[in-house]
Amino acid sequence: MPATALDPAVLAKYEPVIGLEVHVQLLTETKAFCGCANHFGSEPNTNICPVCLGLPGALPVLNEKAVEFAALAALALGCQIRERSIFARKNYFYPDLPKGYQISQYDKPIAEHGVLDVPTADGGLKRIGITRLHMEEDAGKSLHDGFPDSATRTYLDLNRCGTPLVEIVSEPDIRTPEEAFEYLTRLKEILLYTRVSDCNMEEGSLRCDANVSVRLKCAEKFGTKVEVKNVNSFRFVRAALEYEIERQIEVIEAGGRVTQESRLWNANEGRTYSMRSKEQAHDYRYFPEPDLPPLIVTEDFLQQRRVELPELPEARRARMTAEYELNPKDAATLTASREFADRFEAAARTARNPRRVANLLLSEIGGRLKALGLEQEQSPVSMAGIVLAADLLDEDKISSKQLKQLLDVCFEKGEDFAVVYEREKPRQITDSSALEAMIDEVIAANPKQVEQYRAGKKTVAGFFVGQVMRASKGQANPALLNELVAKKLDS
Ligand code: ADP
Ligand code: ZN
Ligand code: MG
Repeated sequence: MPATALDPAVLAKYEPVIGLEVHVQLLTETKAFCGCANHFGSEPNTNICPVCLGLPGALPVLNEKAVEFAALAALALGCQIRERSIFARKNYFYPDLPKGYQISQYDKPIAEHGVLDVPTADGGLKRIGITRLHMEEDAGKSLHDGFPDSATRTYLDLNRCGTPLVEIVSEPDIRTPEEAFEYLTRLKEILLYTRVSDCNMEEGSLRCDANVSVRLKCAEKFGTKVEVKNVNSFRFVRAALEYEIERQIEVIEAGGRVTQESRLWNANEGRTYSMRSKEQAHDYRYFPEPDLPPLIVTEDFLQQRRVELPELPEARRARMTAEYELNPKDAATLTASREFADRFEAAARTARNPRRVANLLLSEIGGRLKALGLEQEQSPVSMAGIVLAADLLDEDKISSKQLKQLLDVCFEKGEDFAVVYEREKPRQITDSSALEAMIDEVIAANPKQVEQYRAGKKTVAGFFVGQVMRASKGQANPALLNELVAKKLDS
C-alpha cells in the first residue's frame, strides 16, 4: 500500500482534481430504440429483438419517453437544452455489444452547461459544473461467474442492450473525495426526485467512473488524469479516490510521472489496478448515426417538462426548514425521499399545527424507531396517527406524558395510534374542584415559590402546573390546570 507511507506535509503540497462521469439507466417501460421491455432481472436473452441485437436491416426508432426523462433530468441540473441534437455511433468491439457500436451523442449532446451545488464542510455550498448530459444506449452483460464451466466460458445476457441511459459528465471542479461523495449523493437525490431512474447501484442503474489527477497547489495546469472504472458504491468512489490520490502523489514524489490510463477498483483489496493505458485507448471513430434523424426538442415539449419538474431537494429543504422550523439535520431527514416528504406534508397540512406533526415525527416517533433500529417505513404509527396525536395535544385532550405512554403501547404492540387511543383513551381530570384541591396542596407546600410569583415572577406558574401534573399522574387537563393555577396564585 503506498497510502500510509506518505508524510502529511507532503500530501499537503498537492491538490487533487476530480471529474465524474455518471451513467444512469432511465425508467422507461421499453428500450431506447425498440419496443423490448426495459426490465432488470428477466430470464437472460428474453427481452431482445432484431433492433437491439443489431441484426442487418433492423432500424432504430427513438423512444420519446427516454427523451422526456433526459430533458427532465437536464432541466433539474440547470442545463441548457439543445434544440437540435445529434445521435452518433461510438464504434468498438466487445462481445456484449453485438451491433459493434453504441448509439450515443458526441459533439452535439442534448444538454450542456449545468450546475450542481454540493454542501461543504464549513456549512456552505460549492458549485460543481456539469459539462454535458447526453443520451445513449446500454450494452449487454457478460456473465463470467456462476456456471459449471465458468472457468473456460463466458456467457452473454443481451437483455440490457439498448436500455436508455443518460451520461452526466462533471467539470473537473471537484477537489476532494468527500466532495465527490457529496456530488454523487446530491445527483442521485435529484434523479430520484425527478423519477427518471431508480438509481439502484446494485442493479447497475447508476454507475460511476471517477477521473482524478493531482497537481502542486501552486500549479496552473492540471496533472495527468487517471480514470477509475467499475466503482459500484459512493463509498467505494470515495475510497478509490483517496487511494488513487496518494498513489499518484507517491509516483510524483519518487520522481516518476503519472501514466494516463484506466484503472479498476478492487473493493476487496482496497486498491486500484491498471486496466489499459492511453496507448491502448479506444479510438471510437465517432460518426453521425445515419439511421436516426436529428433530435428536435421543441419549446412546447420543454414547457411540458418544466411543468413536470418537482420542487427539487435543495429548494424543498430550504422551504421546509422555514415552514416547520427545522434544524438542518431534521430537514434532511424529512426530505430524504420525495415520497416520504410528500406523505409527511400531505398529512401535516391537515393538522391544526403542522409544526407539531413534524416535531412528533422527528422526536417521539424518530427516537423510538432509532432505539429499535427501524426505518420510518416500518413505524407502527401512520402519518394519520401522528396527526391525530398532534391534534389531541393541541386541543389539550391529552398531556404530553399521556402521549408518550400511548406511543409506548403503539410500539410494544405494533398498533397504530388511533387504535391504541380509542381503546385506552386516557382519563383526564376535568373536574375543577378536584384540581383545585390538588393545587391548594401544592401551593401550601411551596410558600417560597408563591412569594416569587407574587413578587412578579410570573413564570413560576409553570412550576406549579408541573407539580400538579405530576401529582395527577399526567391526567390533569392541561388547559384547565393552567387556568386554575393562575387564578389561585392571583387571588
Ligand atoms: P476524455 O477525453 O479522456 O474522456 P474528458 O475531457 O472528456 O476526458 O473528461 C472526462 C472526465 O474527466 C470529465 O468528468 C472531466 O471533468 C474529467 N477530467 C478532465 N481532465 C481532468 C484532469 N486533468 N484531472 C481530473 N479530471 C479530469
Ligand atoms: Zn429490442
Ligand atoms: Mg470524454
